[in-house]
Amino acid sequence: MNLIILGPQGSGKGTQAKFLADQFDLTQIETGLALRQAAEEDTPLGRELHRIMYEDGGLVSDEETMKVLGEKLKRIPKERGVILDGAPRRLEQIKLVEDVMEKSGRAIDGVIFLNVSEEESIHRISRRYHCSKCHKNFFLGEDLDDPEKGCPVCGGTVKKRKDDTEEGVRKRLSVFHNETCPVVEYYREKGVLIEINGMKGKKEVFGQILDKIKNS
Ligand code: AMP
Repeated sequence: MNLIILGPQGSGKGTQAKFLADQFDLTQIETGLALRQAAEEDTPLGRELHRIMYEDGGLVSDEETMKVLGEKLKRIPKERGVILDGAPRRLEQIKLVEDVMEKSGRAIDGVIFLNVSEEESIHRISRRYHCSKCHKNFFLGEDLDDPEKGCPVCGGTVKKRKDDTEEGVRKRLSVFHNETCPVVEYYREKGVLIEINGMKGKKEVFGQILDKIKNS
């Protein structure tokens, strides 16, 4: 099975993608994480990605995004399913993602959309921390008590993401609204969208996803 998961920042995409990956034995591919890693490189491309992601707050070029996605897909055995977390994020990427998936011998079986309000997104992101070693996200007061004590899973350094400022989140939410919502509508019209109310706790949200996958 190959899935796509869409939703605004803080909707719980990463968390639910991980649950789905564990449940159905899928490999999770986060385009945002792969691009943030590429943006740390001290090369002209790394510096350009850094500018787009941290100063501008917009989307990276389709070319670079598909390159990163294609590289990730190439390394995963063909018989293993994937869950794409972070692509497609604009209409032009729908066909490009289909093509890059097809090249790796895969078709998309379903698209999950986690719907949360803008206030909830901002509230969640204001409490979000990221481990620079195992790349897991944590939420202060939920699964993280004290960032100074390090990652509760691997002991790595836990920090806020550089783009998780209130201004950065608002910018990315407006990009989501303008660029990614049309993608959600495309899949809704196509009849493959699994829409989920993401405003509940993570286990409840996962229960809803499993029920809808079973009945789809
Ligand atoms: P995320 O970790 O999902 O919040 O993504 C971080 C940043 O990576 C975004 O703000 C974009 O600049 C970039 N990004 C992630 N996925 C894509 C995509 N599919 N297309 C273009 N840019 C992307």
